[in-house]
Amino acid sequence: MEITGQTKLAGIIGDPVEHSLSPAIQNAAFNHLNINCVYIPLHVYPEQLSLVMQTIKAFFVGINVTMPYKQDVIPYMDEIDLFAQLVGAVNTIKVDNGRLLGFNTDGVGFLQSLKQELGFSPENRRIAIIGAGGATRSVAMSIAQSKAEKLTIINRNINKAHSIKKLINDNFKDIKIEVLSLSDDLPKFIHDFELIINATPVGMESDESPIDSSILRSGQLVADLIYRLDETKFLREAKKSGAKTMSGKSMLLYQGAASFEIWTKESAPVDVMKNTLEVALKK
Ligand code: NAP
Repeated sequence: MEITGQTKLAGIIGDPVEHSLSPAIQNAAFNHLNINCVYIPLHVYPEQLSLVMQTIKAFFVGINVTMPYKQDVIPYMDEIDLFAQLVGAVNTIKVDNGRLLGFNTDGVGFLQSLKQELGFSPENRRIAIIGAGGATRSVAMSIAQSKAEKLTIINRNINKAHSIKKLINDNFKDIKIEVLSLSDDLPKFIHDFELIINATPVGMESDESPIDSSILRSGQLVADLIYRLDETKFLREAKKSGAKTMSGKSMLLYQGAASFEIWTKESAPVDVMKNTLEVALKK
């Protein structure tokens, strides 16, 4: 892409941000559609956030927000869409006539990956999620919004799981929410779930699994949100038990595609973004 006097700016803010794959994916999409925009990483330190938000407002068309600022940017928003309000976190900002509009595309990215990779929709299904951090909040909220029958949150710290349960109960009346601890007798419960999701980082740095996935059964669907590995131990063992599996790569892809569509109002070139993501992950 040639930088000209008309080139627009988009980007990602985080601390750190050097590891981010979003610049590769988003620039490939802008190039493919001949949109004169460049997407840059901005390593923002906490004391710079206020200045950076003013700069974004003045010079950018939109940005992604990653750790640790997904909650910190909320006070700067002029408007926040309903899903991001429910989750309490913003990962996408669109600048619209000098106003900052906040969105959260993690939930829709996860739902889209389930649909595309596993042909699965949460409606009337029984689903378990391991973890109770930021990713679980988005994924759990999108599962509740999609009218799942039951969601079980399994976490090491039970209080964090209960606070997500309360958040969902306060907003969605029809879904049954259950909380389990990682130390509960999981084999007793696990066969009932149609989809089990790992939303912890366990398995990213070492060959470990958040639960013993050899207790899973054939026919279950198993997803890991970790995207840096094609197959974590959790997925490998689940596959051996006969489960169908999905890594976190496609959630990353589809949340990025959703951000792109919010900024440009164009359909994201998902195949181009997917190929670029594969190459970037191999580097
Ligand atoms: P987070 O807010 O730090 O939450 C991490 C959760 O994992 C917490 O509930 C924590 O339990 C649990 N956990 C951490 N270490 C554990 C261990 N050793 N044993 C058992 N549980 C443990 O992180 P997050 O933002 O939710 O991210 C979670 C994962 O999702 C990461 O791997 C991240 O890369 C991935 N992710 C992927 C995408 C994607 O697009 N594919 C998007 C977002 C996140 P406690 O509550 O007990 O501390």
